[in-house]
Amino acid sequence: MQTQTAQRILRSYRRRRLIVCIGLAILALFLTLSARFVAERKVNEQHMLSFNQRVISTLESILIPLGDTNKDITPLVGMSCQTAQVKMLEHAARLQTVRSIGLIKDGILYCSSIFGPQAVPINLLQPRLPSALPLLYLSIDHTLLKGTPILLSWTPAENSSRDGVIQTINIELLTGLILEPERPWVSRAVLNVADSHLEYGKGLLQRITVAEGEVSHEMASERFAFSVTTIGPPPGLLALSNLPTQLPLALILSMLIGYIAWLATANRMSFSWEINVGLALHEFEVFCQPLLSARNLQCVGVELLLRWNNPRQGWIPPDVFIPLAEQQNLIAPLTRFVLEETVRHIDIFPKTRDFHIGINVAASHFHEGVIIADLRRYWLPAKAVQKLTLELTERDALPDVDHRVVRDLHRMGVNLAIDDFGTGQSSLAYLETLNPDVLKIDKSFTAAIGTDAVNSTITDIIIALAQRLGIQLVAEGVETPQQAEYLRSHGVNVLQGYLYARPMPLSEFPRWLRGNNTPPPRRKGHPVPVIPLR
Ligand code: C2E
Ligand code: CA
Ligand code: CA
Repeated sequence: MQTQTAQRILRSYRRRRLIVCIGLAILALFLTLSARFVAERKVNEQHMLSFNQRVISTLESILIPLGDTNKDITPLVGMSCQTAQVKMLEHAARLQTVRSIGLIKDGILYCSSIFGPQAVPINLLQPRLPSALPLLYLSIDHTLLKGTPILLSWTPAENSSRDGVIQTINIELLTGLILEPERPWVSRAVLNVADSHLEYGKGLLQRITVAEGEVSHEMASERFAFSVTTIGPPPGLLALSNLPTQLPLALILSMLIGYIAWLATANRMSFSWEINVGLALHEFEVFCQPLLSARNLQCVGVELLLRWNNPRQGWIPPDVFIPLAEQQNLIAPLTRFVLEETVRHIDIFPKTRDFHIGINVAASHFHEGVIIADLRRYWLPAKAVQKLTLELTERDALPDVDHRVVRDLHRMGVNLAIDDFGTGQSSLAYLETLNPDVLKIDKSFTAAIGTDAVNSTITDIIIALAQRLGIQLVAEGVETPQQAEYLRSHGVNVLQGYLYARPMPLSEFPRWLRGNNTPPPRRKGHPVPVIPLR
């Protein structure tokens, strides 16, 4: 039952720890994927942006030399075509991007770099021309490659709105090169000049249509009157669709974080941590249970017993936390606490040499003489007159106990008791190795008195053994007057049990003691409990 409780407590700690670690791992996974998502979205946006920038600077680098050409060619307006054509051909050949150059005088295209002398009203070919202002616009070729898109650059001659130079740029070829979409970030790219648009793969358009679920980015040139629009899937959606590829790495990372959390919480989220917290927060309290002389029922000592009021778990019985504390190497701090508390309250105990103060000590505490060091530190400075008895239970591996420690204890005037005597495996062997001053008859043997023939016989044997070896006997778990009478009549010197007193807070002991010093109340010739059972 108690071990079940201990297992339950340990399981609940492990479960909580597991929940925390899994929670952290999930959080890490979520954060990693979110971070990847944000980063990826930014990268996608950046791709669109840099695509635009690249297109703009390429087109600008194409348009800049046209300005120089204009400077050279504009003075030719009005000159004979024969003279001008050679120069124009030269320029067109040098620029490569220019399909043809034309000279316009009084609104008539009179000279073309390709066709030589002409006489075509320019507004028949290009209704917007001639114009008093320089123009850059997209149009359709009506002369050479009929129907193909072209970019026209019109430069009016000085002081005339009807004379000028027209350069035809081979824009279809250019856009085929520079507007090629960059998937998956850019699925469509459009060049916008004035109110017309040239889309890669689609030709000239009057307006740009953006489908649902697509986003568009427009960027304008700072030097020329054109802009570029890129259209593609939303960067967030793109990042989201890419997220599964990030999953393996994110999973590994989150598992790593979960594992680190598992290691890091090994101490913090364990029962041992809880015991440490309990000690720090003063949740432990020392109770005492009186030991009575079997002869006159006077109090001849106490056994100190730990109680743990844990606000998170409620009262935890010592049968649960003591074995766990032993497993986790925390029994020594608990025993030190009992020692400290005993010394702090030493004045409440009768100041006589025969008054026994029993504390429970785990065998592991005897290892390498740690208990001796602790007694020197906590017990000896108090210079208490009372007799300290260390109760060692057989539950522990008593053979671990070092003989030198036993010898030192005796030298310090500290008694040794074997607790729960008879329940362990080799009780008799300990009698020799430990040379105890006291044997405590386990409460199961006391309970057997008058009910269980076999165990009653063992009780008799233990009593006889102790008497033969001159070891003092204390019977635990005395609950009935019959048991008390039996034990007393068989020569057990000291009795402990609910019949006389339950374990009580140290602060209550003086009051109990005052009550007990008056002759014990008797009913039908037997003493009755002096404090109400709790
Ligand atoms: P224990 O050393 O055998 O302590 C006696 C136990 O019997 C105590 O249980 C006490 O409350 C109980 N008891 C006393 N009189 C009667 C009775 O008439 N009838 C019955 N049925 N029980 C009685 P508690 O306080 O629950 O302690 C249980 C065990 O926990 C102790 O057994 C002891 O082994 C351990 N323990 C308690 N405090 C400490 C401590 O400070 N250090 C160490 N190492 N162990 C401790
Ligand atoms: Ca004990
Ligand atoms: Ca016991």
